Amino acid sequence: MAKIPKHRTPPFIVPSDLVKMRFVCGNCHEEGLINWVERQGAPKESVKSTVQDGHWVPISFRNTCPHCEAPNEISAPAFERRAALTLVGDESYRELTYKGDNLFYMCIALVGVDPGIRNEIEYGVLELEEYMRERSNGKTKAFHAKDILTTKNWPTGVSFEDRVSFIKKMCQLCSNKKVTKIVSAGCVVTSDKQRDMRHVRDEVYSSLIMYSLDRTRKAGLVPVYKFDRIQKGRESGWAKECVTGIRLYPLFVWLSARAHIPAVEFIEPLSCLESKMADCLAYVTANEFARRVSGRHPAVTSAEFGRAMFIGYNGRGDLIHEDSTGYPLERVFAIK
Ligand SMILES: [Zn+2]
Repeated sequence: MAKIPKHRTPPFIVPSDLVKMRFVCGNCHEEGLINWVERQGAPKESVKSTVQDGHWVPISFRNTCPHCEAPNEISAPAFERRAALTLVGDESYRELTYKGDNLFYMCIALVGVDPGIRNEIEYGVLELEEYMRERSNGKTKAFHAKDILTTKNWPTGVSFEDRVSFIKKMCQLCSNKKVTKIVSAGCVVTSDKQRDMRHVRDEVYSSLIMYSLDRTRKAGLVPVYKFDRIQKGRESGWAKECVTGIRLYPLFVWLSARAHIPAVEFIEPLSCLESKMADCLAYVTANEFARRVSGRHPAVTSAEFGRAMFIGYNGRGDLIHEDSTGYPLERVFAIK
């Protein structure tokens, strides 16, 4: 049997409409619930065809009958494949203290831009960058939210309000309805810092991949994921291992809905339009959380980038998802 590559087990979350889904065993003809957490023999990956363009795509998964233990194959639904949508992700971390506890927070934003408006938005971002370059005497080049809010990168004549206005301008460009925005966040009280940080990171990332796969495929799109390299020139191993973990379970095949989902690509930070937009969204969402936790008012909020898809685990470990204007801080983290 093939050796299963290094992977991280994904959080076992299943959309509510699938939890009660039943199947009839081909062997004993008894009915049973589909086991969404049955680990497959190998990660469900497409294989490039050697005779023609395209890929051999896994469209079914093994489901062992709970009555007679016969292996059954269950097929995924066939959703439309109208177009590919490149989704670029960037993350933001915060370490905070709250009522004497140490907190670790992380959020990842995914951004996709409809090809029909890409030029228009890119022009707006280039214009903003050009303006920032002038105001900073050439010190600030590409849009990077953290650098913009770091005082020492700017001459004295540029106030904090001026710099916040650059971020707000980017949020405004992101607020276009044809920009797909999906933001996943998680927070934990840390006791063993390294272990807890890894746990939050893996959950936030894995749930974002599964949730965005579900949403894009239901909309007839095929997601192409790209993430920043964590360290210069190095791919992030943990992210790859999370995706391998996701591909080992039935939900991946089901949510892919018979489309070839390419392997995640790792790109240089801020190397494309979507990457700059994702940087802005992740920064703004994390900054808002950190400010609210410490009882301060954020200078710019997640409501400013318009309606987006938000997800996060609440205190009971349920995955909350909401399409809203502004991150649902109260529903997810019980923060006013
Ligand atoms: Zn059976």
